[in-house]
Amino acid sequence: MHEYERRQDQAREHIRATIMNEFCEVMRTTGLPPMVVMRLAAQSVGNIYREIAAAHRGIEPCPCGWQPVEASDIEVLIAALRCAARPAPQVTDLGAMRAAGTA
Ligand SMILES: [Zn+2]
Repeated sequence: MHEYERRQDQAREHIRATIMNEFCEVMRTTGLPPMVVMRLAAQSVGNIYREIAAAHRGIEPCPCGWQPVEASDIEVLIAALRCAARPAPQVTDLGAMRAAGTA
């Protein structure tokens, strides 16, 4: 595995575990329903994007060189959420497709 992929996997797992811990803690302490807390978490990602993007514009932007392109950046975030939230295809579905194909 390439170094970049390894770092990306490590970051993904760290963020997932952190958000899962906080999600469970908020559910436990507030008693709010899961979808309310999910929506708050998704809104937080949007807010973080807006703050980080703002730090890359203006008179003294972050020197890393990233230039936010709001429309396409937000599409990337929506696609990532949609892709990650969809259930993975089930093995039984593939079996049913194969059976249907040979019938
Ligand atoms: Zn930067």
